[in-house]
Amino acid sequence: MSTFQELGLDANLLQAITDLGFVKPSEVQAQAIPLLLENEDSDLVALAQTGTGKTAAFGFPMLHKIDVSDRTTQGLILSPTRELCLQIANEMKLYGKYYKGLNVTAIYGGASITDQAREVKRGAQIIVATPGRMKDMINRKLVDITKIQYAVLDEADEMLNMGFYDDIVDILSDTPEDKNTWLFSATMPKEVAAIAKKFMKSPLEVTVGHKNEGSKNVSHEYYMVNARDRYQALKRLCDANPDIFSVIFCRTKRDTQKVAENLIEDGYSAGALHGDLSQNQRDIVMKQFRTQQIQMLVATDVAARGIDVDDITHVINYQLPDEPEVYTHRSGRTGRAGKSGISMVIVSKSEVRKIKSIERIIKKDFIKKEIPNGIEICE
Ligand code: ADP
Ligand code: MG
Repeated sequence: MSTFQELGLDANLLQAITDLGFVKPSEVQAQAIPLLLENEDSDLVALAQTGTGKTAAFGFPMLHKIDVSDRTTQGLILSPTRELCLQIANEMKLYGKYYKGLNVTAIYGGASITDQAREVKRGAQIIVATPGRMKDMINRKLVDITKIQYAVLDEADEMLNMGFYDDIVDILSDTPEDKNTWLFSATMPKEVAAIAKKFMKSPLEVTVGHKNEGSKNVSHEYYMVNARDRYQALKRLCDANPDIFSVIFCRTKRDTQKVAENLIEDGYSAGALHGDLSQNQRDIVMKQFRTQQIQMLVATDVAARGIDVDDITHVINYQLPDEPEVYTHRSGRTGRAGKSGISMVIVSKSEVRKIKSIERIIKKDFIKKEIPNGIEICE
């Protein structure tokens, strides 16, 4: 399938797709959309890396299938973070702009539950929600999801990583038995397989690239340093790449804040993104980063998950994550839309073995590099 017309989408969607400037379907779209349109009543498991266009892969079929003249909630999209909910809801509104009467509502923590309940009551056909807030609204009887026909679990691996298993089970148990469930995930750890088994009947399957494999356009480098020189090494790497536009990952909120503060103090163009900041602070820093007013976003895995910012040149692992799968998510922030990117890891001697386990997962070798010295930087 090489065009959106051939996928069988209706005219409202095709018009919106033209406006968006999407020329042809991405691989996951080309595979998932016809399956979902042709099979009236089926579940789906789709595995594809971040940046492969998964939102439209479930968003187009959902919009194609729901009845906008009906004001009951027909589609539910669960997604791990507030930022992602907002991003997906915005995309869905763009995709659905020619459906008169379409109402897409985002529901997430940290904002007024009454305002969100009012939005839903106005007749949201599609709700995009974090599991925590969704559960809360169900408990308070502020939403009715008993007429849901399509339920999407987006970034399923990450939702389960974040401990949303019980919430997801409770939410899905509140939806009709005969709905369709579409699960999207970058990786397929056993927790995801378990949830698919629990809620899906012989699902259709789509896999783009190899399971758990990272993007082809990303090269992986590691730099071995003494643990106490970590921050100096980071600065050298930034100095050596003056046009860097980067996400720097730390393990804890505290380290994230500290590294960002140090970088700013040392005259770098940086900002922090983590869960201890207010929603407003997070919105501000995301906007600065998106518009490239800051060059470096220092972030925790949870806060940065799935955020779709184009043209990131480098991902820097200031510290490695515990789970090698998380590295795939991190490095997937760069090398998007056919561009190349570099994922750098700063490791101490005691962590070098972690590189090996990551290599096995991404099926690619790391290049061992030396921190550039001052002379190279001046060249
Ligand atoms: P994922 O959820 O897989 O990480 P997204 O759905 O967020 O990916 O899409 C990544 C980016 O690619 C978005 O900016 C989106 O608008 C864009 N995009 C999606 N599909 C296409 C397409 N067919 N052609 C061009 N751009 C696309
Ligand atoms: Mg996505």
